[in-house]
Amino acid sequence: MSKDYRVLLYYKYVTIDDPETFASEHLDYCKSLGLKGRILVSTEGLNGTVSGTKEATDAYMDHLHEDERFKDLVFKVDEADGHAFKKMHCRPRKEIVALGLDEDIDPHQLTGKYYSPSEFKEALLSDDTVILDARNDYEYDLGHFRGAIRPDITRFRDLPQWIRENKEKLENKKIVTYCTGGIRCEKFSGFLKREGFDDVGQLEGGIATYGKDPETKGEYWDGKMYVFDERISVDVNQVEKTVVGKEWFDGTPCERYINCANPECNRQILVSEENEERYLGACCYDCAKHERNRYVEKNNISEEEKERRLENFKDLVHQ
Ligand SMILES: [Zn+2]
Repeated sequence: MSKDYRVLLYYKYVTIDDPETFASEHLDYCKSLGLKGRILVSTEGLNGTVSGTKEATDAYMDHLHEDERFKDLVFKVDEADGHAFKKMHCRPRKEIVALGLDEDIDPHQLTGKYYSPSEFKEALLSDDTVILDARNDYEYDLGHFRGAIRPDITRFRDLPQWIRENKEKLENKKIVTYCTGGIRCEKFSGFLKREGFDDVGQLEGGIATYGKDPETKGEYWDGKMYVFDERISVDVNQVEKTVVGKEWFDGTPCERYINCANPECNRQILVSEENEERYLGACCYDCAKHERNRYVEKNNISEEEKERRLENFKDLVHQ
């Protein structure tokens, strides 16, 4: 079955002189094509994910490639059933990916060696190389490369501190980092070099490229890849499928993400449909009990019923 929509994932580190003007004109252009998505613009470059029809995304890619600054921009293209976003945003930012260093890294000046998917696969299988995930913990928990190190962080800007506190895991080793599309590793691998690690590499084009590569076919990826759009996750490994996600309440295999129903918590958790119902869409008793619990509101659950389901938390060991 052929799909009528596409999702484009792309970035480019290149100087954009006036991000405010660029962003507002670019937003108008994207809207005129009927695209939806999220684009960040900074003096350091462009970072976007957009969805649209085949025609619209073709026109968009051609348009960017005609611009001298983006003529070699690489698009990762996914087929899709429909839009992956509700709205179209294009915003000026200080960085196109927020690492928040006091002294920023320019990947054109300092970055890790680029590993092609095949080279990366070889590194994965080699004993003297550590594979380091440069993403957040909830992304790792849904899927990751077999044997990769999992930094205990919920946002990218906390990664430098985690590295400084966990140096012993990486010292005197070859390090290769990876992320979704490659943009985070461009800066992060540069940071690792500046921290004194000398053999630092990065997966060029990220997991998205590795999964589609005809040689690697996503091999040795376990689980699914988390994506920052309405699809939430996509497949990577074309050779074998495994599930690594664990259900929040009972630990059974699960790949279904929800946001905790407490609007002040919003924590991303893997929860089965059954347990979402049982625990009122929340991550813990306090969140379930919250007066603005979205699950309760959305499903018109009565006070009595809410009280009854709150009792379910009493049977849980780890809450
Ligand atoms: Zn919560």
